[in-house]
Amino acid sequence: MAFVEEYDFIICGAGTAGPAVAARLAEDVTLSILLIEAGQDNVNLENTQMVGGWSLNFDGPHDWNLLSTPHPSTSNRTQKLSRGKFLGGSSAVNGTLMVRGMRQDYDDWEALGNPGWGSSQMWHYFNKSETFHSEPWFKEEEGMHGKCGPIHTSLHPNAPITEAVTKSFVDKGMPLVEDMFASGRTAVGVGHCTRSVWQGERSTGAQYLRDSFDPDKKWRHKNLNKVFGHTVSRVILDENSRAVGVETIVGDGREKKVFRCKKEIILSLGSYGSPKVLLLSGIGPKEDLYEVGIQPKIDLPGVGKNLEDHLTVFVFYEVKQGYTTDHLFHGSKFDKARDQWRRFRTGTLSRSHFGAFAFTRLDDRLRNHSLWNDELRKSQATTGRDPMGLLPNQPHVEYFTTERYAAPKHYANPPPEGKSAFANIIELFSPRSRGYVKLSTSDPKENPIIQHNWLSDPLDVLVYAEACKLGAEIALEGSGSKDLILGAWPPEDKHTEFNTLEEWEKYVRENATTCFHPSGTCKMGPVSDPGAVVDARLRVRGVGCLRIADCSIMPKLNNGHPQAVAYAIGEKCADMLKEDWRIDLRTAAKL
Ligand SMILES: Cc1cc2nc3c(=O)[nH]c(=O)nc-3n(C[C@H](O)[C@H](O)[C@H](O)COP(=O)(O)OP(=O)(O)OC[C@H]3O[C@@H](n4cnc5c(N)ncnc54)[C@H](O)[C@@H]3O)c2cc1C
Repeated sequence: MAFVEEYDFIICGAGTAGPAVAARLAEDVTLSILLIEAGQDNVNLENTQMVGGWSLNFDGPHDWNLLSTPHPSTSNRTQKLSRGKFLGGSSAVNGTLMVRGMRQDYDDWEALGNPGWGSSQMWHYFNKSETFHSEPWFKEEEGMHGKCGPIHTSLHPNAPITEAVTKSFVDKGMPLVEDMFASGRTAVGVGHCTRSVWQGERSTGAQYLRDSFDPDKKWRHKNLNKVFGHTVSRVILDENSRAVGVETIVGDGREKKVFRCKKEIILSLGSYGSPKVLLLSGIGPKEDLYEVGIQPKIDLPGVGKNLEDHLTVFVFYEVKQGYTTDHLFHGSKFDKARDQWRRFRTGTLSRSHFGAFAFTRLDDRLRNHSLWNDELRKSQATTGRDPMGLLPNQPHVEYFTTERYAAPKHYANPPPEGKSAFANIIELFSPRSRGYVKLSTSDPKENPIIQHNWLSDPLDVLVYAEACKLGAEIALEGSGSKDLILGAWPPEDKHTEFNTLEEWEKYVRENATTCFHPSGTCKMGPVSDPGAVVDARLRVRGVGCLRIADCSIMPKLNNGHPQAVAYAIGEKCADMLKEDWRIDLRTAAKL
């Protein structure tokens, strides 16, 4: 082993949650902290800052290039599971949507045996991470936004198609509650979704380390060392099962390095990365480890299990001219828009292409199905909840729309010049299907096996198909959009002619794609839960001085989008480390 360095705390993964943990710990200037990232610093990676360039980060050296294992329930399709591989991680490549989820979601986490994770604590951390820049026209809910956190958020200027579809949502029983995605109290409504964008630049986990709006782009903390291009291959345990170091592979893999740790190691490698490194370290289900020739050190059955994700299905409509932003992308206009962004941080590439956002429940529709009613009787008798595990104050589905033809890369039918299209995207919340992450080999350079099992539970398919059917009714019958829509796009898709649920079932199996929200693979839970990997203080069971802070610890995916949650998890982890190591910043400052 080459050169050895020693730090008080080592944080692995400089994505979304990792920088939050590192920067908050570094507030105590007496501590030495190391942050390790496999990718590079994002300071010169334009497409991590120019919001409209996000998809240009995919499928290359800055993506982990993970693939899902095909499954019959989604027509044996292999899906790309993009994750950012640079400072900022997935926060630097995402859709910038800040949809916190419902207060009930976090009260559920607490009720599952995780004290300290209820809604009031989570809202404290959501606000701590945020600086919200409001607008005079916006009805902000008091106390529901942060004013001095590192992540700058703002509102999106709606295109005419968004205003039109919002009207249609209201028509179909979803009242306008402007700030509902920050307050977490509205399960049925349409509102304005805050974005992690400000002054035309994307706000990412990197903001914790360096204010990228600062023209000098200086690092903020002198006691926080960062190493890029180091892929963590394993956590080193001593004879008492205490984590004492981290081994990394440097660059192309010819060199290895070991960093020693005096206090604690925190894994923030994301929902695919954190279980992978635990398994490579001999921490996980012993049968899975034997399968790839790794000697188990701690038999922890939950590692890599309980993989939960949200699916999205894009349903495109051709619309009359003058409502979408397609015309800004035709021909050489992308280059012009990029020049505008480079010079002024304005224009269509300074914002994401999503428009209207709504939540709803589908109880009335689902009551027509014996499959639902049979499960409902059982679930209400045992848990008091519906078959998706939800209470009436939690939505079944989210609708969000695009303001032009924009979708995952395999949708390859952009309308030609003179035509316009937008998508109604249907996102299924609280799915029952679960998948797993496991190693394919003991070689840390290989990607893991990722089996999502999306739609393998028949109730997920039923709820999803009903949600799509309602989505079509909103678009085609709602007063704002009905007269604008010219038909399905592309016309041969013919979904505007669907009459039955079976047609929508087939459509979702053939078209639904990940919303890039993997979670739960190192889930948090009490000792009584054999699937729990970390306890409520995020400590890995059976191992000393090792914690996990990222979306993998979520016991249940929020009914929303997870980036705000990742920041909150990082913030809370830092506070727990400070408490457990008795780091008092007032005392530290005097030293
Ligand atoms: C395309 C896309 C769109 C999305 N859109 C939204 C959205 O609009 N709103 C929203 O709320 N959420 C969205 N998400 C999800 C959200 O961004 C993620 O859930 C969240 O950022 C995950 O945070 P994390 O800290 O768990 O992991 P990440 O941010 O992925 O961080 C993990 C970090 O660890 C590094 N790493 C991994 N393995 C190793 C290793 N072995 N050694 C060293 N470093 C390693 C990675 O490079 C990365 O920097 C989207 C995600 C994607 C990919």
